[in-house]
Amino acid sequence: MDAIIETDPTARAEYLKVCASNPSALAWTLAELAKLPAQSPQAGNRSHHQTPTPKVCCRDCRHFVASSTSPAAGLGRCSINAPASNRAPALWPAALHHCRDWRPITEGDTP
Ligand code: SF4
Repeated sequence: MDAIIETDPTARAEYLKVCASNPSALAWTLAELAKLPAQSPQAGNRSHHQTPTPKVCCRDCRHFVASSTSPAAGLGRCSINAPASNRAPALWPAALHHCRDWRPITEGDTP
């Protein structure tokens, strides 16, 4: 949680709860955490062992705003305008793609 600069205790607990019940969220988080030692000055030569970030769907992301006319299949938008949102096939709800800004939906998020 420190690595993604999430300091709110409630949000941290929700994020961990989602990871415990959502394999995609856990896989994404573990892949991101695996990259952290490579960014550390103490990492030495471990940088070439990075785990690729799994592909994600926008519909499973807290930043996704679904289409008002076709929420399940229509082109949505990214509330944070993440760089990946400008690369196809992002913003189609179920399309798998790479996005470093993907975050799991937690109970406190509004649909
Ligand atoms: S582009 Fe990335 S951050 Fe934006 S909604 Fe899709 S997965 Fe989430």
